[in-house]
Amino acid sequence: MRILIVEDEAKTADYLCSGLTEEGFVVDLARNGVDGLHLALEEEYDAIVLDVMLPQLDGWAVLSTLRARRQTPVIMLTASARIDDRVRGLSDGADDYLIKPFSFLELLARLRAILRRGRPQEATHLQVGDLHIDLIKRRVVRGKTRIDLTAQEFSLLTILVRRQGEIVSKAAIASQVWDINFDTNTNVVEVAIKRLRAKIDAPFSTCLLHNVRGMGYVIEDRSAENIL
Ligand code: CA
Repeated sequence: MRILIVEDEAKTADYLCSGLTEEGFVVDLARNGVDGLHLALEEEYDAIVLDVMLPQLDGWAVLSTLRARRQTPVIMLTASARIDDRVRGLSDGADDYLIKPFSFLELLARLRAILRRGRPQEATHLQVGDLHIDLIKRRVVRGKTRIDLTAQEFSLLTILVRRQGEIVSKAAIASQVWDINFDTNTNVVEVAIKRLRAKIDAPFSTCLLHNVRGMGYVIEDRSAENIL
């Protein structure tokens, strides 16, 4: 389970990081709202612990920008016991909140509860253009043609389709598909993209997977733009 902590106070951050690491979580830490939002959008987390009072971008702004694109469970940390803040947090899409000071055990219990709840809103099917992915059966169909993908190709495709229309960097792909930090000397991502393209695009009249030079890859149905 991978957790992102967004907290600027060193003491609280260290306490949370070491506690959660000891409990077996993989923990990333961001010390301001901008870094926190960037990580929350670029990486895959099972849950996010988000402080409200943060430098650069506060927790509310991080939450609302995040929610426009992702449903990662969020626990807000608030120093205020004001009911307004609690109501605001939950209505803005937080899954839970804790009022500081809180005990580590309470945080752990709340975190485990939201992780158990899972993501009921998680899609079982994804679609881009005439390409359909059944996430349960792990089956890919384009038009009426069934496409057989390796486990790695399937994972690469779903990462791109979940973020269709957005440029996904090679580094983000490398870290999510292979769990490696991107090394500029490796062309592992390019090779994988090439193989995927040969299966999902080459046999068909329109391409869905596009290169964005120097930035990464985007999957989208551009035929719709021509109609408009
Ligand atoms: Ca703070």
